[in-house]
Order: sequence, then C-alpha cells, then structure tokens
Amino acid sequence: MTTALRAARTDGLSLLDKLQEAVRPEFAMELIHTDPTHPVFARGQCRVIGCERGAWTKLLCNSHYGRWTHEGRRDLDLFATTTGPVVGGHSDRIDAFDLRGLPLQLRLEIAYSIQIRHDQRTIRLVPMMVNRLVRLVIAAKVGSLLDHGLERWTLLAHEHGLTDTGGRAMGQLRFAWRQALDLAEGLDAEAEFARDTWRAAALGARPSPKKVPPICFDHIPQRWLREAVKRACRYRLGAGKAFGSVSIDERALRWFAAFLHRHHPEVDAASGISREVLEHYLSWLTAAPELSGNTTNTYLVVLRSFLQACHRHDWMPGLSGRAALYLDELPPRPRPLPRFIPEFVMTQLEDPDNLALLPDETTRHLLILIQETGLRANDACLLEYNPVIIDSAGWPCLKYFNHKMTTEQLVPLSQRAADAVRAQQHHLDSRWPARCPKLFPSPHANPDGAQPFSYATLRHRLAAWQQQIAYTTRPASP
Ligand SMILES: [Zn+2]
Repeated sequence: MTTALRAARTDGLSLLDKLQEAVRPEFAMELIHTDPTHPVFARGQCRVIGCERGAWTKLLCNSHYGRWTHEGRRDLDLFATTTGPVVGGHSDRIDAFDLRGLPLQLRLEIAYSIQIRHDQRTIRLVPMMVNRLVRLVIAAKVGSLLDHGLERWTLLAHEHGLTDTGGRAMGQLRFAWRQALDLAEGLDAEAEFARDTWRAAALGARPSPKKVPPICFDHIPQRWLREAVKRACRYRLGAGKAFGSVSIDERALRWFAAFLHRHHPEVDAASGISREVLEHYLSWLTAAPELSGNTTNTYLVVLRSFLQACHRHDWMPGLSGRAALYLDELPPRPRPLPRFIPEFVMTQLEDPDNLALLPDETTRHLLILIQETGLRANDACLLEYNPVIIDSAGWPCLKYFNHKMTTEQLVPLSQRAADAVRAQQHHLDSRWPARCPKLFPSPHANPDGAQPFSYATLRHRLAAWQQQIAYTTRPASP
C-alpha cells in the first residue's frame, strides 16, 4: 500500500479531505476524554472507594491494579475497601484516547475508527488498547495506516511486543486500516452500485443486529441478465425493501441464470427468453430436489415480478411480451411456514429439571415466554425492556411487533409468562442498572444491551441443550 493509493481517487477528494469531513468534532481532538461509565469506552469505575478512574481489569483502574499485584494479590474486596487513593500527579492520559504525537492524517484515521466503534456499539474499546496502538504507529514513522499492508503491520506489531495483551490493540489497528481503505476507495453508493458485490453499509442500509452478507452478482454469468438483475435489485432497494429481501431476489434470479447457462446456452440475449424456456424452468425448478417447496415458490414469485418489472421499465430490451409467468402456474406453498421452535422442544420446557440445564437466565426466560405466548422466536428476541401493558379488564398483555405481518399485536399473558418477564427484568437490572433497552439482550459484544438476542444464538443453544438432555435423561423411577 503506498501514497499512490491515498492520492488516487475518482471524486477528487483526498483521504485527508474525507477524514476531515467524516470525523466529528468530539473525536477530532488530540486527547479524547472518556467517562468511566461509558458503555463502549469503559468497563465501569474502579472499585476502590473514592477512585474515579475507569476500570481496566478486575474492576480496578490501571494504577490500583498495579498496586494490588505489587502487594501480592491479596483479598480483592479487602484491598478495595482499605487501600488509599492513587498518589502522584493526575496524568491527562488517564481515561483518554491519547492521539498526541501523530501526524494529522494518521491521527484522524485512528480517530475515525474510534468514532465508528462508538457508533456501532458492538465492541468495547478501552483507551489503553488504542494508546498501545498509537505507540506502535508512531514508532513506524508513517503518514497513513495505508502506507503498510496488514501483513507488514502484523510483523511490526510483533516486533513492538504487541502480541499478547496487545491483541485487542491489533484488532483495532486492522479495523482502522479497513475503515481507512473503504473511505479512500470511496464507499459511496454510486461506486457500490457499479460493482458486482454490494455491501449493505456502503448502500446506507439500516444497521442490522445481524451480520448482513453482501449481495454478489457475479454468480450470474450472462452480462445482459446480470445488468437487468442489478437494475431490478437497485429499484427494489430504492423502493424501501430490506437489504436481506433484495438478497433473496438475487439468489432466486441466480437460479434462473444457472438454469439458462446449463440447459439453454443458446439464449444469449433477452429475446431468447421464450415461453417454452420459462415452462421448462417451471418444471425443472419444481423438481429440484435441493429446494424446499417454500423456496421453489419464492424463487418463482421473484422471477415473475422480475419479468413484469423488466417489461414495465424496459430493463431488458428485446424481451418478448410472452415472456411471463402467471399466478396460477406457480406451485402452491406446501403449508404455512413452521414455527421456529419445534413442538417437542417446547414440551421438554415443562420439566423444571430440563429448564435448569439451560445456560443462562435470559435463554430460560425467553423460552418460557415463547412457550406461553406462542410468539415467533424472532419477534420475542426483539422485545423492548417493558413490553407489558394492562388491558381494560386489568389483565397483563404483551405488546409486540409481529414482523411477519408487520403489525403491532397484543397477546394476553399467563401467570407463568408474566413471572418470566418480571424475573428477566430483575435479572437485567442487576447487570444494567441504567436500564437495558432490550428485554432479551444478546450475550455477546453488547456493552449497553442495545443488541437483541439473535435467533441464531437461540437455535445454537437449543441444539446444545437437546443434546445435554439426551445424555442426562434417565428412565423415571417406578
Ligand atoms: Zn483506582
């Protein structure tokens, strides 16, 4: 990576220009102070009474941690209540990201990565991690992180002793490097639409608690078809469709492209898509053994809408007016989509011994609520901290958003469900005294509890739990 990359761009703005525009004033300073109670930038306040510094490890600030280890790691509670305050002058580096000594562009590159961590709220970033990274970068005598490739940085970090405890520092360096590269290359929507791979973030998609994989169009071998699919997808995004839904559109049309490629290689333009070809596709896809009935139906519905839109907007010049699918040709959906949690799993939840085997309270309460209310797991995972309201008859009801029907709904709560909600709120209050925004927060990478529990995590835990039950279940005694 060289200065050439920093200079070469399409819109005439240098990376420095872009950084100066992107970094907000509170992150544009050489010394960025943080609050020990900040959910992302701190681990809470030092547990030593009267000490106002942010905790580094064992809920002790760096100075008190040093003193504790020096004194032979005696009983922590006793230490915290009996030791004196930190002596010596107050350094302005305490609880601050110290970016002094860095050339302007480099400083803004690192500040930009801190700002993004702040906005994403998925990883805790304590100042000391960054301050270690700053020492490494100063020693490297570069003007930009992009002056070295990541391999070279890894090597330098190793030489600098940033290997073990500096793991988090290195993670932040990689992150900052990637963010600077994105900014330098122009992470703007037009450039992204022109690519064959679309990233949700570059297209300004709503940040999602789930990881959103990019949409890749290069699986569509026919250029003319790929361009039309991209136009259709762009149109759908513009109409407010979620990035994930548009991703399904692409996957559906990829099947059509693969079919043409394999079974009708003679079709080399839109005019080649005849009714006969479509009828062949209909029977071929319906018989595809690797697709479920629901998926087959979805893929055909997508193709039908795609062809309609191509006619309407003339996205595929030469497309025959007869190239269409009709509603009554589509195979019916085999049955309503199954509930996410199988019934036999639910019945096992009635046994308190089984419930006790679940890994934590959040999972337990979540499952009880799903079992008692019949909520879809996805809807339950997204509940707000207090979803309970009292109806006109004085009965507690759960207010939730039904994502499948995109509507708000009310469901009366059983005593057991109401108890589970209350117990869960109580559990959250002990961990997030300042109030957790979600009723079922994700257990990982979630400093302020704003990320909801994900269905993937739940499914993973259920699978492990099932296995455990299978191991521990014994025949009932007579
Ligand atoms: Zn302290």
